[in-house]
Amino acid sequence: MSDYPIWHPFTQMARFDRDPQLVIARAEANRLIDTEGKEYIDGVASIWANVHGHSHPKIVNAIQEQASKLQHSTLLGITHEPAIELTNRLNSIIPNDLKHIFLSENGASAVEVSLKMAIQFWANQGHPERNRIISLEMAYHGDTLGAVSVGGDGPFRDVYQPFLFEPIRFPNPYQYRCTMCSRGSVCTSECAAQLRPLLDQFAGQIAALIIEPRVQGAAGIIVSPDDHLRAIRYLCDQYDVLLIADEVATGFGKTGAMFACDLEQVTPDIMVLGKGITGGYLPLAATVATDRIYDAFYGEESKKLFHGHTYAGNPICCAAGIASIDLFSDGKVIEQVLSRAAVLTDFLEKRIADHPNVGDIRQQGLMVGIELVADKETREPLLPKSEATWNVCLAVREYGLFIRPLGDVIVLMPPLSIEEDEIDLMTEALRNGLDRIFPI
Ligand SMILES: *Cc1c(COP(=O)(O)O)cnc(C)c1O
Repeated sequence: MSDYPIWHPFTQMARFDRDPQLVIARAEANRLIDTEGKEYIDGVASIWANVHGHSHPKIVNAIQEQASKLQHSTLLGITHEPAIELTNRLNSIIPNDLKHIFLSENGASAVEVSLKMAIQFWANQGHPERNRIISLEMAYHGDTLGAVSVGGDGPFRDVYQPFLFEPIRFPNPYQYRCTMCSRGSVCTSECAAQLRPLLDQFAGQIAALIIEPRVQGAAGIIVSPDDHLRAIRYLCDQYDVLLIADEVATGFGKTGAMFACDLEQVTPDIMVLGKGITGGYLPLAATVATDRIYDAFYGEESKKLFHGHTYAGNPICCAAGIASIDLFSDGKVIEQVLSRAAVLTDFLEKRIADHPNVGDIRQQGLMVGIELVADKETREPLLPKSEATWNVCLAVREYGLFIRPLGDVIVLMPPLSIEEDEIDLMTEALRNGLDRIFPI
């Protein structure tokens, strides 16, 4: 039994109690340091949140200064300077037509807000019948009930089924296991084309389509083909369906652009931000909307958005967000993501790709998914209850790397500040871990 009363999130506690314990004491730049003083590269950026590395003096100072001035004051009907400044900063980096920023504390909440916004947008204009949501297979939008509703089938969703609403689903662009474009042929985005008949069938009932633009994160870092997002934007426009881009995982530089939508010059009607918004230091999230959305709520009392969290837009969180966004201002951070991503590609090719259990390596910027298989030729998956991927992630700790898998997929998603020698170390540790768990 564990020595502590903590019930850990997304964790089988029986396994937690069996595994060696890792207690983190502090963190510097791209390393976590445990209570024994051993260092680990933070290979998943503290679950995809950390941006500029840990203990960055600019962000730490901003937090300390704000903490000494105003710790919390509500945004319900009144405002405060850190929220004003943060939303101005965000406005300067998000696509031009997105202007109105609704703050909350975590990605799932910000997704819930986006769904409620979309439904009420139509209701406020006399179209309550437009109340269905389209989502992609294997999607992940957070773990609250509304967010789980639009998420993919499987253990995240199945038990809670009686409490959920049903979205209209369409196939995701999973090229490695695609059943549409035939294997070996060029991808023709057949999956995106499947959207049109659904829109024909349901158009008058649909409020919005929600998508993780460019990269489906929790599905196993599934990278969509070029122009997939643009094709979806085009179809949503044709049928006047709102497009919600959930950039909680992809936002703030990880894909090689500030936002994944920027990679295809797409402007969604609603954009959802979380994880990296404070540089990964404090909880904060945002749901951002265009004038068209905002205007539909403007006017009578009954048209306001019925949503608001106690700590939404907390000033200390906002201060961290301001400092983090300022660190992007000279453009060097994104430039460095591109060069580091190229270095990572090389090391993955050199050290990881030839391993017999590595089936597919998917990469977009500094987001990497490595799908392990039982047989490289036939692409046969690992055995259903295989703990091999988990065991690889445990084994690499010994070589100074902390990572966490998603099913059969090993994820690498370091902070944007990752150095070349650390990429070298990460991939070497991973190779050693793979060789240990899958002896050749
Ligand atoms: C992590 C994630 C969420 C949920 O964010 P939380 O802060 O964990 O609630 C939502 N959408 C995507 C795409 C995510 O990766």
